[in-house]
Amino acid sequence: MSGELCDCETFAVGRCSECKTWVCGDHSQLVEGRRLCDTHVAARVRADQAVRDNTERSKRARRTAMLKQLGTIADPIQRLLTGLRVGADEAELAQLCPGMVPWGGHGQPIAEWFAAQAGPHVPHDITLAIREERVGAISGRPRLVNRGTQAAWTFPAGSSHGEDAFVLADGRAVVQYTSPGAATITRTSGLGRVALMQMAKLLDLRLPEPIVD
Ligand SMILES: [Zn+2]
Ligand SMILES: [Zn+2]
Repeated sequence: MSGELCDCETFAVGRCSECKTWVCGDHSQLVEGRRLCDTHVAARVRADQAVRDNTERSKRARRTAMLKQLGTIADPIQRLLTGLRVGADEAELAQLCPGMVPWGGHGQPIAEWFAAQAGPHVPHDITLAIREERVGAISGRPRLVNRGTQAAWTFPAGSSHGEDAFVLADGRAVVQYTSPGAATITRTSGLGRVALMQMAKLLDLRLPEPIVD
């Protein structure tokens, strides 16, 4: 060190690596191993902030583009499922699909829609024996009625209560419930987010266009 002074008349500890001004320890900082004067520290902070703002802005732009594209999907169930798959949050989905969020009460129409879409393309993965509980019209007591078998799609943890759910080929969403007498009983069920996400994946639902920056 050559006895150079900072502007504040204190002995300099070094030179700003940008403008080569002699600076003391109080009027400079080490930033990523390089000494910078106060002016260049401030410039650096502004530049970093600009990068962050840009990233934030482009993130928002992507999201806006995504929501705009979702809005062009005419079928509300397809819009909902695609939105779930591409990461729209619940508030965004509520705006995009008025009346369908929360989707708890829409399990049956969604199951029917899925069965119609998946039918020719997505193979069933299970065959279920359908045994339903019917309350006798005269006795008023429940009895079990066999309804044969149906091909179905399995949605692990997909019911609205987190049980495994099945969508039957005829479009009903059901759970298989084991009664105290160990009989397996088929019951209609709501569908949870997990099932809807899986449907979107099975049908490979996507935005109409890829989003480009
Ligand atoms: Zn400087
Ligand atoms: Zn100084």
